[in-house]
Amino acid sequence: MIRTRFAPSPTGYLHIGGARTALFSWAYARKHGGVFILRIEDTDLERSTPESVQAILQGMSWLGLDYDEGPFYQMQRMARYKEVIGQLLASGHAYHCYASKEEVETMREQQRAAGLKPRYDGRWRPEPDKVLPAPPAGVAPVVRFKNPLDGSVAWNDLVKGIIEISNTELDDLVIARPDGTPTYNFCVAVDDWDMNITQVIRGDDHVNNTPRQINILKALGATLPQYAHVPMILGADGERLSKRHGAVSVMQYLEDGYLPEALLNYLARLGWAHGDDEVFSMAQFVAWFNLEAISRSPAKFNAEKLLWINQQYLKTADNARLAELTTPFLLRDGGDLANGPPLTEVVQLLKVRVSTLVELADAAVLFYRYLEPSAELVAQHLPAEAIPALNALASRFMAVEWKRQTIQETLKAVVAESGLKMPKIAMPLRVLVTGETQTPSIDATLELLGRETVICRLQEQLA
Ligand code: GLU
Repeated sequence: MIRTRFAPSPTGYLHIGGARTALFSWAYARKHGGVFILRIEDTDLERSTPESVQAILQGMSWLGLDYDEGPFYQMQRMARYKEVIGQLLASGHAYHCYASKEEVETMREQQRAAGLKPRYDGRWRPEPDKVLPAPPAGVAPVVRFKNPLDGSVAWNDLVKGIIEISNTELDDLVIARPDGTPTYNFCVAVDDWDMNITQVIRGDDHVNNTPRQINILKALGATLPQYAHVPMILGADGERLSKRHGAVSVMQYLEDGYLPEALLNYLARLGWAHGDDEVFSMAQFVAWFNLEAISRSPAKFNAEKLLWINQQYLKTADNARLAELTTPFLLRDGGDLANGPPLTEVVQLLKVRVSTLVELADAAVLFYRYLEPSAELVAQHLPAEAIPALNALASRFMAVEWKRQTIQETLKAVVAESGLKMPKIAMPLRVLVTGETQTPSIDATLELLGRETVICRLQEQLA
C-alpha cells in the first residue's frame, strides 16, 4: 500500500512551494489508491505558531487536498521519540556525549584552523577496547547517533537518480538535546518509520538530510521509503521564490480572487508536465501524474501564466458557484445584493471578460451600487444635443419589450432619428444610468439593470 505524507513546519503561511509538494504527494497517493498523511512538524517551538497550523489546514482545505490520516503533531509524539532514543541507546546505535557546547565549538575551531572540515571527533563514542572518560558530574549529556564510520549511503532518488554520500561526510548527529528533547532529523525518521511511509516526496532542500535519516532508519531496522526530491521553485529572475515575486502564500490567492482548481492546475504544471497540456482537471492530473516526469531543474514561477489559467477556469465555471464566490468581494466593494439583478445573470455576462473574482466583483458592482455621476462627469460626457434623444429614449423604453435585442433596436432607432452618432448617445446613457464610463455592452447592461431602474435614473439625471 502506497503511503505518502506532507510534513510542513508551521512557521508561516502555507506557501506555493509547500502546496506543490503537498499536491504531488497527494496525487501520488490518489493515483495508486494509497494513503495521504498530513504531519505537522512543530518541534521548533520558537518559530512554530498555532496561526500557521491554521493557515496550513485552511490552505489544504481550500485546495481540496484531503488527507486520510492526521493531522499528526510531532509535539504530541514526544514520548514515542524518547522511547526510540532509549532503544537506540540500548542497542548501541546511540550514546551519551558529555562534551559541552563550548567544547564542541573549540574542537571545530581547531579543525578549521588545521584546514579540516569541522566535525565531531567521536570523543564520547564508544568503541570496542576504547576507554571512555568518566562522565563529568552534574552535566546533562546529549544523545548522539552512532553513524557508520565507513561506507556510504546511497539511494535511487525518484526524481534525481542515484545519490551517494560517503559516511565520512556525516558525523554523529545529536538526536536528543540535554533536556531530552529530540532533534529534527531524528523525529522525521521515526515518523516516516511509524507511519509506514513508502515514498517521501519533498523539496530538494532536504537532500542533505536524507543520508542522516536513512542511517537512522537502518539502525532502527526499518524498511526504507523511496525518496523523491523535487527541485525548488524560482522567481522569473532565477532567485528563490519570495514575496518580491508576488504572492507566495496560498491563502493570498483566495483573497486575490483565484479559483482553487486554477491554482492547483498551475502548481501541477510547475516542474511537472504532460506534453503541452495546460488546462486539465485534478482527476486527469491524478491519472497522468508520475514522479519520473518531474523536472530535475528548478521550476520558474510565472504569475501571468497562473492568471491566464484562472481566466480559463472562470470562463467555464458554473454561474451559481461563481455568484457565491464573488459575493464576499461584492459586499466588500459596497454592493447591495438585494438591490439588483440576479447575480448569476451578471456573472454569466462578465465571466468571459475577467481574470479573477476580484475583477469580476469590480465589474459587477455597478449593478448593486449606484454612484450618481458627478456634475463634472456628466458635463464631460453629455452633449446638449443628446438630451432630447435621451428623453425620447426614456419614454420609448417604457413601451418596449425589455430584452437585449429590443433595447438595442430602440437605441438604434433613436440614434438614427437624432442624426447623431451612436457614441454621442450611448456614452451619456451609460454614464447617467450606471455612473460609470466602462460597462459591458450597453444593451446587456440595461437589460440586467431592469426597465424601472434605467428609466428612473435617466429621468432623474435629465431633470
Ligand atoms: N518540515 C519540513 C519542511 O517544512 C519537511 C520535512 C520533510 O518533508 O521531510 O520543510
